[in-house]
Amino acid sequence: MTQPQGGRSVAPMSDLMTPAPSDFRGRTITPDDAGFDEARAVYNGMIDRRPALIVRPTDADDVAAAIAHARDRDLVIAVRGGGHNGAGLGTVDGGLVIDLAALNDIAVDPVARTVRVGGGSKWGDVDRATGEHGLATPSGIISTTGVGGLTLGGGLGHLTRRFGLTIDNLLEADVVLADGRRVRAAADEHPDLFWAIRGGGGNFGVVTSFTFRLHEVGTIFGGPTFWPVEQAEQVMSVYREFLPGAPRDLNGFFCFHTVPPGPPFPEEIHLREVCGVVWCFVGGEDAARKAMAPLLDALPEPLLHGVQAMPHAMLQSAFDGLYPRGEQWYWRADFVKELPDEAVALHARYGADMPTMKSTMHLYPVDGAAHDVAASDTAWSYRDATWGAVYAGVDPDPGNVATIRRWSIDYHEALHPYSAGGAYVNMMMDEGRERVRASYRDNWNRLARVKAVYDRDNTFRINQNIEPETA
Ligand SMILES: Cc1cc2nc3c(=O)[nH]c(=O)nc-3n(C[C@H](O)[C@H](O)[C@H](O)COP(=O)(O)OP(=O)(O)OC[C@H]3O[C@@H](n4cnc5c(N)ncnc54)[C@H](O)[C@@H]3O)c2cc1C
Repeated sequence: MTQPQGGRSVAPMSDLMTPAPSDFRGRTITPDDAGFDEARAVYNGMIDRRPALIVRPTDADDVAAAIAHARDRDLVIAVRGGGHNGAGLGTVDGGLVIDLAALNDIAVDPVARTVRVGGGSKWGDVDRATGEHGLATPSGIISTTGVGGLTLGGGLGHLTRRFGLTIDNLLEADVVLADGRRVRAAADEHPDLFWAIRGGGGNFGVVTSFTFRLHEVGTIFGGPTFWPVEQAEQVMSVYREFLPGAPRDLNGFFCFHTVPPGPPFPEEIHLREVCGVVWCFVGGEDAARKAMAPLLDALPEPLLHGVQAMPHAMLQSAFDGLYPRGEQWYWRADFVKELPDEAVALHARYGADMPTMKSTMHLYPVDGAAHDVAASDTAWSYRDATWGAVYAGVDPDPGNVATIRRWSIDYHEALHPYSAGGAYVNMMMDEGRERVRASYRDNWNRLARVKAVYDRDNTFRINQNIEPETA
Protein backbone atom coordinates (compact mmCIF):
# COMPACT_ATOMS: atom_id res chain seq x y z
CA MET A 1 0.00 0.00 0.00
CA THR A 2 1.31 3.43 -0.81
CA GLN A 3 0.10 6.63 0.74
CA PRO A 4 1.05 10.00 -0.75
CA GLN A 5 3.63 10.91 1.86
CA GLY A 6 6.15 8.64 0.16
CA GLY A 7 5.17 9.47 -3.42
CA ARG A 8 4.06 12.56 -5.26
CA SER A 9 3.54 15.69 -3.31
CA VAL A 10 -0.04 16.65 -2.62
CA ALA A 11 -1.33 19.76 -4.37
CA PRO A 12 -1.87 22.79 -2.16
CA MET A 13 -5.50 23.76 -1.70
CA SER A 14 -5.00 26.87 -3.83
CA ASP A 15 -4.52 24.60 -6.84
CA LEU A 16 -7.95 23.20 -6.29
CA MET A 17 -9.70 26.42 -7.25
CA THR A 18 -11.57 24.44 -9.87
CA PRO A 19 -12.94 21.79 -7.55
CA ALA A 20 -14.53 19.72 -10.27
CA PRO A 21 -12.96 18.33 -13.40
CA SER A 22 -14.27 20.21 -16.43
CA ASP A 23 -16.70 18.13 -18.53
CA PHE A 24 -17.57 16.18 -15.41
CA ARG A 25 -21.26 15.29 -15.06
CA GLY A 26 -21.18 13.35 -11.81
CA ARG A 27 -21.27 14.56 -8.22
CA THR A 28 -18.29 16.28 -6.62
CA ILE A 29 -17.86 16.60 -2.86
CA THR A 30 -15.31 18.92 -1.24
CA PRO A 31 -14.30 19.22 2.42
CA ASP A 32 -16.63 22.23 2.65
CA ASP A 33 -19.70 20.22 1.65
CA ALA A 34 -22.14 19.03 4.30
CA GLY A 35 -21.93 15.42 3.13
CA PHE A 36 -18.12 15.27 3.16
CA ASP A 37 -17.67 13.22 6.34
CA GLU A 38 -20.17 10.63 5.19
CA ALA A 39 -18.64 10.54 1.72
CA ARG A 40 -15.08 10.09 2.95
CA ALA A 41 -15.94 7.24 5.34
CA VAL A 42 -15.06 3.72 4.24
CA TYR A 43 -16.15 0.36 5.63
CA ASN A 44 -13.27 0.04 8.14
CA GLY A 45 -13.93 2.52 10.93
CA MET A 46 -10.20 2.61 11.74
CA ILE A 47 -9.51 4.45 8.50
CA ASP A 48 -9.81 8.22 8.91
CA ARG A 49 -8.53 9.96 5.78
CA ARG A 50 -9.40 13.37 4.36
CA PRO A 51 -9.25 13.57 0.59
CA ALA A 52 -9.05 16.97 -1.09
CA LEU A 53 -11.92 16.03 -3.37
CA ILE A 54 -14.32 13.14 -3.89
CA VAL A 55 -15.95 12.62 -7.27
CA ARG A 56 -18.70 10.21 -8.27
CA PRO A 57 -18.49 9.62 -12.03
CA THR A 58 -21.56 8.66 -14.01
CA ASP A 59 -19.70 6.92 -16.85
CA ALA A 60 -16.28 6.13 -18.34
CA ASP A 61 -15.93 9.67 -19.76
CA ASP A 62 -16.34 11.08 -16.27
CA VAL A 63 -13.73 8.65 -14.98
CA ALA A 64 -11.29 9.78 -17.68
CA ALA A 65 -12.00 13.45 -16.86
CA ALA A 66 -11.37 12.79 -13.17
CA ILE A 67 -8.07 11.04 -13.86
CA ALA A 68 -6.92 13.91 -16.10
CA HIS A 69 -7.97 16.45 -13.48
CA ALA A 70 -5.92 14.71 -10.80
CA ARG A 71 -2.89 14.22 -13.01
CA ASP A 72 -2.90 17.87 -14.07
CA ARG A 73 -2.82 18.93 -10.43
CA ASP A 74 -0.47 16.23 -9.19
CA LEU A 75 -3.19 14.86 -6.94
CA VAL A 76 -2.83 11.26 -5.82
CA ILE A 77 -5.79 9.17 -6.96
CA ALA A 78 -7.65 6.59 -4.88
CA VAL A 79 -10.25 4.53 -6.72
CA ARG A 80 -13.18 3.29 -4.65
CA GLY A 81 -15.37 0.36 -5.60
CA GLY A 82 -17.33 -0.76 -2.54
CA GLY A 83 -15.02 0.94 -0.03
CA HIS A 84 -14.65 -2.37 1.84
CA ASN A 85 -10.92 -2.77 1.75
CA GLY A 86 -9.49 -3.44 5.22
CA ALA A 87 -6.43 -1.31 4.57
CA GLY A 88 -8.61 1.59 3.40
CA LEU A 89 -7.35 1.57 -0.17
CA GLY A 90 -10.54 3.26 -1.40
CA THR A 91 -9.47 6.60 0.03
CA VAL A 92 -6.44 8.84 0.46
CA ASP A 93 -5.33 11.83 2.50
CA GLY A 94 -5.16 15.03 0.44
CA GLY A 95 -5.85 13.37 -2.91
CA LEU A 96 -8.74 12.69 -5.27
CA VAL A 97 -11.12 9.83 -4.55
CA ILE A 98 -12.83 8.46 -7.65
CA ASP A 99 -15.84 6.82 -6.00
CA LEU A 100 -17.52 4.50 -8.51
CA ALA A 101 -20.72 4.08 -6.47
CA ALA A 102 -22.91 5.47 -9.28
CA LEU A 103 -21.57 2.92 -11.77
CA ASN A 104 -23.84 0.20 -10.45
CA ASP A 105 -25.91 -1.02 -13.41
CA ILE A 106 -26.45 -4.76 -13.50
CA ALA A 107 -27.59 -6.53 -16.68
CA VAL A 108 -28.22 -10.27 -16.55
CA ASP A 109 -28.37 -12.24 -19.78
CA PRO A 110 -29.98 -15.50 -18.68
CA VAL A 111 -29.65 -17.03 -22.14
CA ALA A 112 -25.95 -16.34 -22.58
CA ARG A 113 -25.52 -16.91 -18.84
CA THR A 114 -23.55 -13.76 -18.27
CA VAL A 115 -23.91 -10.70 -16.10
CA ARG A 116 -22.44 -7.30 -16.85
CA VAL A 117 -22.01 -5.12 -13.78
CA GLY A 118 -20.83 -1.57 -13.18
CA GLY A 119 -17.42 -1.14 -11.54
CA GLY A 120 -18.94 0.31 -8.37
CA SER A 121 -21.56 -2.40 -7.78
CA LYS A 122 -21.94 -4.34 -4.56
CA TRP A 123 -22.15 -8.12 -4.51
CA GLY A 124 -25.54 -8.19 -2.79
CA ASP A 125 -27.14 -6.40 -5.74
CA VAL A 126 -25.44 -8.73 -8.20
CA ASP A 127 -26.47 -11.85 -6.25
CA ARG A 128 -30.09 -10.71 -6.08
CA ALA A 129 -30.24 -9.92 -9.79
CA THR A 130 -28.67 -13.19 -10.90
CA GLY A 131 -30.54 -15.17 -8.23
CA GLU A 132 -33.85 -14.21 -9.86
CA HIS A 133 -32.78 -16.46 -12.73
CA GLY A 134 -31.40 -19.23 -10.51
CA LEU A 135 -27.88 -18.17 -11.52
CA ALA A 136 -24.76 -16.91 -9.73
CA THR A 137 -21.09 -16.18 -10.15
CA PRO A 138 -18.57 -16.82 -7.36
CA SER A 139 -18.00 -13.89 -5.00
CA GLY A 140 -17.21 -13.61 -1.26
CA ILE A 141 -19.16 -14.15 1.95
CA ILE A 142 -20.43 -10.63 2.72
CA SER A 143 -22.86 -8.99 0.36
CA THR A 144 -21.87 -5.39 1.07
CA THR A 145 -18.40 -5.94 -0.41
CA GLY A 146 -17.61 -4.18 -3.67
CA VAL A 147 -17.40 -6.15 -6.89
CA GLY A 148 -14.41 -4.05 -8.01
CA GLY A 149 -11.84 -4.68 -5.30
CA LEU A 150 -12.90 -8.25 -4.59
CA THR A 151 -12.70 -9.23 -8.24
CA LEU A 152 -9.44 -7.49 -9.07
CA GLY A 153 -7.77 -9.13 -6.07
CA GLY A 154 -9.09 -12.63 -6.90
CA GLY A 155 -12.33 -13.42 -5.09
CA LEU A 156 -12.64 -16.25 -2.54
CA GLY A 157 -16.04 -17.37 -1.31
CA HIS A 158 -18.76 -19.94 -0.92
CA LEU A 159 -18.58 -21.09 -4.55
CA THR A 160 -14.79 -21.31 -4.93
CA ARG A 161 -14.45 -25.09 -4.82
CA ARG A 162 -17.27 -25.60 -7.31
CA PHE A 163 -16.70 -22.76 -9.81
CA GLY A 164 -13.29 -21.28 -9.00
CA LEU A 165 -12.26 -17.80 -7.97
CA THR A 166 -14.26 -14.78 -9.07
CA ILE A 167 -11.55 -13.96 -11.62
CA ASP A 168 -11.88 -17.44 -13.12
CA ASN A 169 -15.36 -16.38 -14.17
CA LEU A 170 -14.44 -12.95 -15.50
CA LEU A 171 -15.01 -12.79 -19.25
CA GLU A 172 -14.14 -9.17 -19.96
CA ALA A 173 -13.70 -5.77 -18.38
CA ASP A 174 -13.94 -2.19 -19.62
CA VAL A 175 -10.98 -0.23 -18.30
CA VAL A 176 -10.09 3.46 -18.28
CA LEU A 177 -6.32 3.73 -18.36
CA ALA A 178 -4.08 6.32 -16.69
CA ASP A 179 -3.82 8.29 -19.96
CA GLY A 180 -7.60 8.38 -20.33
CA ARG A 181 -7.87 5.72 -23.04
CA ARG A 182 -10.78 3.33 -22.76
CA VAL A 183 -10.02 -0.28 -23.55
CA ARG A 184 -11.71 -3.64 -23.39
CA ALA A 185 -9.65 -6.33 -21.64
CA ALA A 186 -10.50 -9.91 -22.54
CA ALA A 187 -8.79 -13.06 -23.79
CA ASP A 188 -8.88 -11.66 -27.35
CA GLU A 189 -8.15 -7.99 -26.64
CA HIS A 190 -5.33 -6.62 -24.51
CA PRO A 191 -4.71 -10.15 -23.17
CA ASP A 192 -1.76 -8.92 -21.08
CA LEU A 193 -4.03 -6.44 -19.30
CA PHE A 194 -6.71 -9.12 -18.92
CA TRP A 195 -4.11 -11.42 -17.35
CA ALA A 196 -2.93 -8.71 -14.94
CA ILE A 197 -6.33 -7.53 -13.69
CA ARG A 198 -7.18 -11.09 -12.69
CA GLY A 199 -5.44 -10.86 -9.31
CA GLY A 200 -3.26 -7.78 -9.76
CA GLY A 201 -5.72 -5.45 -8.01
CA GLY A 202 -6.48 -1.88 -9.08
CA ASN A 203 -2.95 -1.31 -10.34
CA PHE A 204 -3.71 -1.09 -14.05
CA GLY A 205 -6.69 1.20 -14.53
CA VAL A 206 -10.24 1.94 -13.45
CA VAL A 207 -12.63 -0.85 -14.35
CA THR A 208 -15.98 0.65 -15.25
CA SER A 209 -17.68 -2.67 -15.99
CA PHE A 210 -17.07 -6.37 -15.47
CA THR A 211 -18.74 -9.24 -17.36
CA PHE A 212 -18.93 -12.57 -15.55
CA ARG A 213 -19.95 -16.09 -16.51
CA LEU A 214 -22.98 -17.36 -14.58
CA HIS A 215 -23.73 -20.83 -13.29
CA GLU A 216 -26.87 -22.61 -12.24
CA VAL A 217 -26.99 -21.94 -8.50
CA GLY A 218 -30.50 -21.62 -7.18
CA THR A 219 -31.20 -23.03 -3.77
CA ILE A 220 -28.09 -24.09 -1.93
CA PHE A 221 -27.79 -26.11 1.26
CA GLY A 222 -25.71 -24.13 3.72
CA GLY A 223 -25.12 -22.60 7.13
CA PRO A 224 -22.86 -23.18 10.14
CA THR A 225 -21.97 -26.18 12.27
CA PHE A 226 -20.45 -25.11 15.61
CA TRP A 227 -18.57 -27.00 18.33
CA PRO A 228 -17.24 -25.59 21.62
CA VAL A 229 -13.94 -23.80 21.08
CA GLU A 230 -12.39 -26.23 23.56
CA GLN A 231 -12.78 -28.95 20.89
CA ALA A 232 -10.93 -26.93 18.26
CA GLU A 233 -7.92 -29.21 17.97
CA GLN A 234 -10.10 -32.23 17.32
CA VAL A 235 -12.42 -30.41 14.90
CA MET A 236 -9.60 -28.82 12.91
CA SER A 237 -7.68 -32.10 12.73
CA VAL A 238 -10.65 -33.88 11.20
CA TYR A 239 -11.45 -30.91 8.93
CA ARG A 240 -7.91 -30.70 7.48
CA GLU A 241 -8.11 -34.35 6.39
CA PHE A 242 -11.69 -34.12 5.17
CA LEU A 243 -11.89 -30.90 3.16
CA PRO A 244 -9.36 -31.50 0.35
CA GLY A 245 -11.03 -34.81 -0.52
CA ALA A 246 -14.62 -33.58 -0.26
CA PRO A 247 -16.70 -33.23 -3.43
CA ARG A 248 -16.37 -29.88 -5.21
CA ASP A 249 -20.05 -29.18 -4.74
CA LEU A 250 -19.24 -28.73 -1.07
CA ASN A 251 -17.50 -25.63 0.23
CA GLY A 252 -16.79 -25.38 3.95
CA PHE A 253 -14.62 -22.78 5.56
CA PHE A 254 -13.26 -23.39 9.04
CA CYS A 255 -13.86 -20.59 11.54
CA PHE A 256 -13.58 -19.35 15.10
CA HIS A 257 -16.46 -17.16 16.23
CA THR A 258 -18.38 -16.01 19.26
CA VAL A 259 -22.05 -16.82 18.77
CA PRO A 260 -23.94 -13.51 18.42
CA PRO A 261 -26.46 -12.87 21.22
CA GLY A 262 -29.62 -12.91 19.14
CA PRO A 263 -31.71 -14.78 16.58
CA PRO A 264 -31.39 -17.06 14.72
CA PHE A 265 -29.04 -18.59 17.31
CA PRO A 266 -30.57 -20.51 20.25
CA GLU A 267 -30.27 -18.56 23.50
CA GLU A 268 -28.33 -21.28 25.29
CA ILE A 269 -25.33 -20.78 23.02
CA HIS A 270 -25.38 -16.97 22.88
CA LEU A 271 -21.87 -15.55 23.39
CA ARG A 272 -20.36 -19.05 23.42
CA GLU A 273 -16.93 -19.14 21.79
CA VAL A 274 -17.02 -21.75 19.07
CA CYS A 275 -15.10 -23.31 16.26
CA GLY A 276 -16.81 -24.73 13.24
CA VAL A 277 -17.45 -24.90 9.56
CA VAL A 278 -19.67 -22.66 7.41
CA TRP A 279 -21.04 -24.77 4.59
CA CYS A 280 -22.32 -24.15 1.11
CA PHE A 281 -23.42 -27.15 -0.93
CA VAL A 282 -24.50 -26.56 -4.51
CA GLY A 283 -27.18 -29.20 -4.87
CA GLY A 284 -29.94 -30.98 -2.99
CA GLU A 285 -30.33 -31.86 0.65
CA ASP A 286 -29.67 -35.59 0.42
CA ALA A 287 -26.45 -35.13 -1.50
CA ALA A 288 -25.41 -32.37 0.91
CA ARG A 289 -25.92 -34.57 3.96
CA LYS A 290 -23.96 -37.35 2.31
CA ALA A 291 -21.10 -35.01 1.44
CA MET A 292 -20.83 -33.59 4.98
CA ALA A 293 -21.26 -36.94 6.74
CA PRO A 294 -17.59 -38.04 6.89
CA LEU A 295 -16.73 -34.94 8.89
CA LEU A 296 -19.83 -34.87 11.06
CA ASP A 297 -19.66 -38.60 11.81
CA ALA A 298 -16.05 -38.32 12.94
CA LEU A 299 -16.76 -35.57 15.49
CA PRO A 300 -18.81 -35.20 18.69
CA GLU A 301 -22.37 -33.87 18.55
CA PRO A 302 -22.09 -30.15 17.64
CA LEU A 303 -23.61 -27.31 19.65
CA LEU A 304 -25.40 -26.21 16.51
CA HIS A 305 -25.95 -27.70 13.08
CA GLY A 306 -27.75 -24.82 11.39
CA VAL A 307 -27.59 -26.12 7.86
CA GLN A 308 -30.65 -25.67 5.67
CA ALA A 309 -31.88 -25.02 2.15
CA MET A 310 -31.80 -21.34 1.21
CA PRO A 311 -31.34 -19.10 -1.81
CA HIS A 312 -27.66 -18.53 -2.56
CA ALA A 313 -28.15 -14.78 -2.06
CA MET A 314 -29.35 -15.43 1.49
CA LEU A 315 -26.18 -17.27 2.46
CA GLN A 316 -24.17 -14.52 0.81
CA SER A 317 -25.67 -11.96 3.18
CA ALA A 318 -25.71 -14.14 6.32
CA PHE A 319 -22.77 -12.29 7.91
CA ASP A 320 -23.92 -8.78 6.93
CA GLY A 321 -25.75 -8.10 10.20
CA LEU A 322 -22.81 -9.19 12.34
CA TYR A 323 -20.33 -7.05 10.46
CA PRO A 324 -21.90 -3.66 9.62
CA ARG A 325 -19.96 -0.76 8.17
CA GLY A 326 -17.99 1.52 10.48
CA GLU A 327 -16.44 -0.93 12.96
CA GLN A 328 -12.73 -1.29 13.64
CA TRP A 329 -10.94 -3.97 11.58
CA TYR A 330 -7.37 -5.13 11.68
CA TRP A 331 -6.41 -8.26 9.88
CA ARG A 332 -3.50 -10.31 8.65
CA ALA A 333 -3.52 -13.19 6.18
CA ASP A 334 -1.54 -16.09 4.76
CA PHE A 335 -1.94 -18.81 2.18
CA VAL A 336 -1.74 -22.28 3.69
CA LYS A 337 -1.04 -25.62 2.05
CA GLU A 338 -1.13 -27.95 5.03
CA LEU A 339 -2.04 -27.82 8.69
CA PRO A 340 0.51 -29.82 10.69
CA ASP A 341 -0.30 -30.75 14.30
CA GLU A 342 1.78 -27.86 15.66
CA ALA A 343 -0.22 -25.37 13.58
CA VAL A 344 -3.51 -26.92 14.70
CA ALA A 345 -2.42 -26.58 18.35
CA LEU A 346 -1.55 -22.90 17.81
CA HIS A 347 -4.87 -22.24 16.11
CA ALA A 348 -6.66 -23.80 19.05
CA ARG A 349 -4.71 -21.55 21.42
CA TYR A 350 -5.39 -18.27 19.60
CA GLY A 351 -8.96 -19.27 18.75
CA ALA A 352 -9.65 -19.70 22.46
CA ASP A 353 -8.22 -16.25 23.11
CA MET A 354 -10.25 -14.03 20.77
CA PRO A 355 -10.04 -10.49 22.15
CA THR A 356 -13.57 -9.33 21.27
CA MET A 357 -16.97 -10.79 20.41
CA LYS A 358 -16.56 -10.09 16.67
CA SER A 359 -12.95 -11.17 16.22
CA THR A 360 -12.57 -14.22 14.06
CA MET A 361 -10.34 -16.50 12.03
CA HIS A 362 -11.44 -18.02 8.74
CA LEU A 363 -9.73 -20.62 6.59
CA TYR A 364 -11.20 -20.19 3.09
CA PRO A 365 -10.74 -23.19 0.77
CA VAL A 366 -8.65 -22.43 -2.32
CA ASP A 367 -8.81 -25.90 -3.84
CA GLY A 368 -11.31 -27.61 -6.13
CA ALA A 369 -11.99 -25.63 -9.30
CA ALA A 370 -9.50 -22.93 -8.25
CA HIS A 371 -6.77 -25.53 -8.82
CA ASP A 372 -7.87 -26.13 -12.42
CA VAL A 373 -6.19 -22.87 -13.43
CA ALA A 374 -2.38 -22.78 -13.62
CA ALA A 375 -0.41 -20.33 -11.45
CA SER A 376 0.77 -18.42 -14.52
CA ASP A 377 -2.62 -18.30 -16.30
CA THR A 378 -3.72 -15.31 -14.22
CA ALA A 379 -1.83 -12.90 -11.98
CA TRP A 380 -3.19 -14.76 -8.93
CA SER A 381 -0.28 -17.02 -8.14
CA TYR A 382 -1.23 -19.26 -5.22
CA ARG A 383 -3.12 -21.95 -7.13
CA ASP A 384 -1.34 -24.59 -5.06
CA ALA A 385 -2.66 -23.30 -1.72
CA THR A 386 -5.34 -25.27 0.08
CA TRP A 387 -6.64 -22.37 2.17
CA GLY A 388 -6.48 -18.62 2.53
CA ALA A 389 -6.25 -17.87 6.26
CA VAL A 390 -7.37 -14.53 7.70
CA TYR A 391 -6.86 -13.45 11.31
CA ALA A 392 -9.33 -10.64 11.86
CA GLY A 393 -9.58 -8.51 14.98
CA VAL A 394 -12.93 -6.70 14.87
CA ASP A 395 -14.74 -4.45 17.34
CA PRO A 396 -17.13 -1.50 17.26
CA ASP A 397 -15.16 0.37 19.94
CA PRO A 398 -12.23 2.51 18.68
CA GLY A 399 -10.78 2.14 22.18
CA ASN A 400 -10.06 -1.52 21.41
CA VAL A 401 -7.96 -0.98 18.29
CA ALA A 402 -4.66 -1.73 19.99
CA THR A 403 -6.05 -4.96 21.44
CA ILE A 404 -7.50 -6.33 18.21
CA ARG A 405 -4.38 -5.31 16.29
CA ARG A 406 -2.09 -7.06 18.75
CA TRP A 407 -4.09 -10.32 18.68
CA SER A 408 -4.25 -10.35 14.89
CA ILE A 409 -0.51 -9.72 14.51
CA ASP A 410 0.46 -12.23 17.22
CA TYR A 411 -1.81 -14.89 15.74
CA HIS A 412 -0.41 -14.29 12.28
CA GLU A 413 3.20 -14.33 13.44
CA ALA A 414 2.67 -17.57 15.33
CA LEU A 415 1.15 -19.31 12.30
CA HIS A 416 3.18 -17.70 9.53
CA PRO A 417 6.01 -20.27 9.76
CA TYR A 418 3.44 -22.93 8.76
CA SER A 419 2.15 -20.91 5.80
CA ALA A 420 2.92 -21.10 2.09
CA GLY A 421 4.67 -17.69 2.24
CA GLY A 422 2.44 -15.09 0.63
CA ALA A 423 -1.04 -13.83 1.39
CA TYR A 424 -4.25 -13.00 -0.42
CA VAL A 425 -3.74 -9.33 -1.31
CA ASN A 426 -7.38 -8.50 -0.56
CA MET A 427 -6.86 -9.51 3.07
CA MET A 428 -3.65 -7.66 3.72
CA MET A 429 -3.20 -4.39 5.59
CA ASP A 430 0.01 -2.41 5.40
CA GLU A 431 2.61 -5.16 5.37
CA GLY A 432 4.57 -3.50 2.57
CA ARG A 433 6.23 -4.20 -0.74
CA GLU A 434 8.07 -7.43 0.03
CA ARG A 435 4.91 -9.04 1.32
CA VAL A 436 3.00 -7.98 -1.82
CA ARG A 437 5.79 -9.32 -3.97
CA ALA A 438 5.77 -12.63 -2.07
CA SER A 439 2.07 -12.92 -2.80
CA TYR A 440 2.64 -12.82 -6.57
CA ARG A 441 5.77 -15.00 -6.59
CA ASP A 442 6.80 -15.82 -10.19
CA ASN A 443 4.13 -13.53 -11.62
CA TRP A 444 5.71 -10.41 -10.08
CA ASN A 445 8.09 -9.53 -12.90
CA ARG A 446 5.44 -9.94 -15.57
CA LEU A 447 3.06 -7.78 -13.53
CA ALA A 448 5.71 -5.06 -13.30
CA ARG A 449 6.14 -5.20 -17.09
CA VAL A 450 2.40 -4.95 -17.75
CA LYS A 451 2.21 -2.10 -15.24
CA ALA A 452 4.90 -0.25 -17.21
CA VAL A 453 2.83 -0.62 -20.39
CA TYR A 454 -0.49 0.56 -18.92
CA ASP A 455 0.50 2.81 -16.02
CA ARG A 456 4.10 3.87 -16.46
CA ASP A 457 3.84 6.71 -13.91
CA ASN A 458 2.20 4.58 -11.22
CA THR A 459 -0.85 6.82 -11.30
CA PHE A 460 -2.83 4.01 -9.65
CA ARG A 461 -0.76 3.45 -6.55
CA ILE A 462 -3.29 3.38 -3.72
CA ASN A 463 -3.50 -0.41 -3.78
CA GLN A 464 -1.23 -3.31 -2.88
CA ASN A 465 1.18 -1.66 -5.23
CA ILE A 466 3.07 -3.17 -8.13
CA GLU A 467 5.66 -0.66 -9.28
CA PRO A 468 6.20 -0.38 -13.04
CA GLU A 469 9.32 -2.04 -14.36
CA THR A 470 11.90 0.57 -15.29
CA ALA A 471 13.73 0.11 -18.57
C1 LIG B 1 -16.07 -7.73 6.07
C2 LIG B 1 -15.25 -8.14 4.90
C3 LIG B 1 -15.47 -9.37 4.32
C4 LIG B 1 -14.73 -9.78 3.22
N1 LIG B 1 -14.96 -11.02 2.68
C5 LIG B 1 -14.27 -11.40 1.59
C6 LIG B 1 -14.53 -12.67 0.97
O1 LIG B 1 -15.35 -13.43 1.42
N2 LIG B 1 -13.82 -12.99 -0.12
C7 LIG B 1 -12.88 -12.16 -0.67
O2 LIG B 1 -12.29 -12.53 -1.67
N3 LIG B 1 -12.62 -10.98 -0.09
C8 LIG B 1 -13.29 -10.59 1.01
N4 LIG B 1 -13.01 -9.39 1.59
C9 LIG B 1 -11.90 -8.60 1.09
C10 LIG B 1 -12.34 -7.78 -0.08
O3 LIG B 1 -12.24 -8.54 -1.25
C11 LIG B 1 -11.42 -6.57 -0.22
O4 LIG B 1 -11.54 -5.80 0.95
C12 LIG B 1 -11.72 -5.75 -1.46
O5 LIG B 1 -10.65 -4.85 -1.64
C13 LIG B 1 -13.01 -5.01 -1.33
O6 LIG B 1 -13.37 -4.45 -2.55
P1 LIG B 1 -14.09 -3.02 -2.59
O7 LIG B 1 -14.34 -2.67 -4.00
O8 LIG B 1 -15.25 -3.02 -1.66
O9 LIG B 1 -12.94 -2.14 -1.93
P2 LIG B 1 -12.40 -0.65 -2.13
O10 LIG B 1 -11.93 -0.26 -0.77
O11 LIG B 1 -13.36 0.21 -2.81
O12 LIG B 1 -11.16 -0.89 -3.10
C14 LIG B 1 -10.13 -1.78 -2.81
C15 LIG B 1 -9.04 -1.69 -3.86
O13 LIG B 1 -9.57 -2.07 -5.13
C16 LIG B 1 -9.46 -1.01 -6.07
N5 LIG B 1 -10.71 -0.97 -6.85
C17 LIG B 1 -11.96 -1.20 -6.41
N6 LIG B 1 -12.83 -1.13 -7.43
C18 LIG B 1 -12.11 -0.85 -8.53
C19 LIG B 1 -12.43 -0.67 -9.90
N7 LIG B 1 -13.69 -0.79 -10.33
N8 LIG B 1 -11.43 -0.40 -10.78
C20 LIG B 1 -10.14 -0.31 -10.35
N9 LIG B 1 -9.78 -0.48 -9.07
C21 LIG B 1 -10.76 -0.75 -8.17
C22 LIG B 1 -9.26 0.23 -5.24
O14 LIG B 1 -8.55 1.20 -5.91
C23 LIG B 1 -8.48 -0.30 -4.05
O15 LIG B 1 -7.11 -0.38 -4.34
C24 LIG B 1 -13.76 -8.93 2.68
C25 LIG B 1 -13.55 -7.68 3.26
C26 LIG B 1 -14.27 -7.29 4.37
C27 LIG B 1 -14.00 -5.97 5.01
